[in-house]
Amino acid sequence: MAERQIQNKLETENLVIIGSGPAGYTAAIYAARANLNPLIITGFQKGGIPGGQLMTTTFVENYPGFPNGIMGPELMDLIKSQALRWGSNLIEEDAEEVDFNSKPFSIKTSTELIKTHSLIIATGASANKLGIPNETEFWSKGISACAICDGATPQFRNEELAVVGGGDSACEEAVYLTKYGSQVHLIVRSKELKASAAMSDRVTSNNQITIHWETELLDVEGKDWISSLILRKRDTNKIKKINAKGLFYAIGHTPNTELFKDQLKLDSNGYILTEPGRPETSLKGIFAAGDVCDSEWRQGITAAGSGCKAALAAERWLTLENLSCLIKREEVEPKEAKSFDESEISTKENFQDDALWQKGSYALRKLYHESKLPLLVVYTSPNCGPCHVLKPQLKRVLTELEGKALGIEIDIEKEEDIAKQANVNGTPTIQLFKSKKLYYQWKGVKQRSEFKNEINKLL
Ligand SMILES: Cc1cc2nc3c(=O)[nH]c(=O)nc-3n(C[C@H](O)[C@H](O)[C@H](O)COP(=O)(O)OP(=O)(O)OC[C@H]3O[C@@H](n4cnc5c(N)ncnc54)[C@H](O)[C@@H]3O)c2cc1C
Repeated sequence: MAERQIQNKLETENLVIIGSGPAGYTAAIYAARANLNPLIITGFQKGGIPGGQLMTTTFVENYPGFPNGIMGPELMDLIKSQALRWGSNLIEEDAEEVDFNSKPFSIKTSTELIKTHSLIIATGASANKLGIPNETEFWSKGISACAICDGATPQFRNEELAVVGGGDSACEEAVYLTKYGSQVHLIVRSKELKASAAMSDRVTSNNQITIHWETELLDVEGKDWISSLILRKRDTNKIKKINAKGLFYAIGHTPNTELFKDQLKLDSNGYILTEPGRPETSLKGIFAAGDVCDSEWRQGITAAGSGCKAALAAERWLTLENLSCLIKREEVEPKEAKSFDESEISTKENFQDDALWQKGSYALRKLYHESKLPLLVVYTSPNCGPCHVLKPQLKRVLTELEGKALGIEIDIEKEEDIAKQANVNGTPTIQLFKSKKLYYQWKGVKQRSEFKNEINKLL
């Protein structure tokens, strides 16, 4: 089971929130402050990671309150902290099944069956990807799914950029990017644009935009950042390479609504239908917020705003139906929010051979050569959202194993050489060693049980 932080367990929850992006956590802040003791099912792998889409980006420059911008994962850590501070409960799992036909509503995760009087669905939407071979490696290193969010990134200034897609969003993004790039390549699979006439005109008349008709993107190349695209002309099969420091996908989003499709009204693209401008869905007691019901605005702040509306609407509905069981706070003022622990780099002076988690190459070398215990070596980078999600999970695994295995974190930005020696080309990468032998390697966020099983085999 993944992380579960429950402060007050109710037989039937007042309010469950599915999803932990800006919409879900904002809804939780409001509901927790209304003493509703909300339970967030954060999601884990199915529709994105806990924290949502902003965990996958670098600088967020347009979220109010951060005049110098803030890293996406850091912003989400802060919003999560705020939700926890006010008493939200959370389960770090995916909702796997729901039953809205009987009341209270029920939701199954991999380990729990949860009953609730009301529900906010904030499962977001996933940007469609192309699945080209080097996509994962260069995601956020030149490849993005959001020109409005990432267009102003310094690496894109006065460089050649590219947009894939032929609809309104692709055209809008191409025009928008001409503000930053020297030239924008629009890569269109067919012979014509699917965008509206006005939008198509804006693109075709803009001499900063080059349209590559009947062309598909095969792959990207680069070193630490993309530098070129490999394209195939579909009518002639000719392959060509063009320079580009930025590549933006505008090939649509898919709302994460698979789970609800037979139980709630969705629009023809799968977005949850709500009352216009409001969070009420087709079923009383079920509300929706954020990208899952918004195919148009899709921003952090709009998602957060709609999470607030959904929580206030749920609170009113619960009161009207006389269903809420309010908690009594022991302390009127909650304790200060926890800051996310950043362990110090281990040196000769502060190294401890039995510390569960240490950082840096000094600890790695010492433990690699001298320890008889299984070692989890975790390669991270400061802006990697999945690393933020994974580290607490791994620390819990090690705590549960009561010192029978140890963890060492290597920041690959600070210790590039170590990462190179270990053949690490992405974060998070986790390697399991014992007595200098590599037994297992994982990439990305995995369930805690996977790590535990492999470590247990070595004990
Ligand atoms: C690369 C990128 C950069 C961006 N940059 C910006 C920016 O700079 N500024 C800005 O305002 N916006 C930006 N956006 C858009 C912004 O991230 C989204 O609009 C916003 O995150 C939507 O919030 P949300 O809460 O609705 O959903 P999401 O952030 O998508 O979160 C959805 C949540 O639901 C969970 N979930 C999904 N399925 C399940 C399930 N079955 N069970 C449980 N949980 C589930 C996921 O794990 C996730 O926690 C960017 C988007 C991307 C992709």
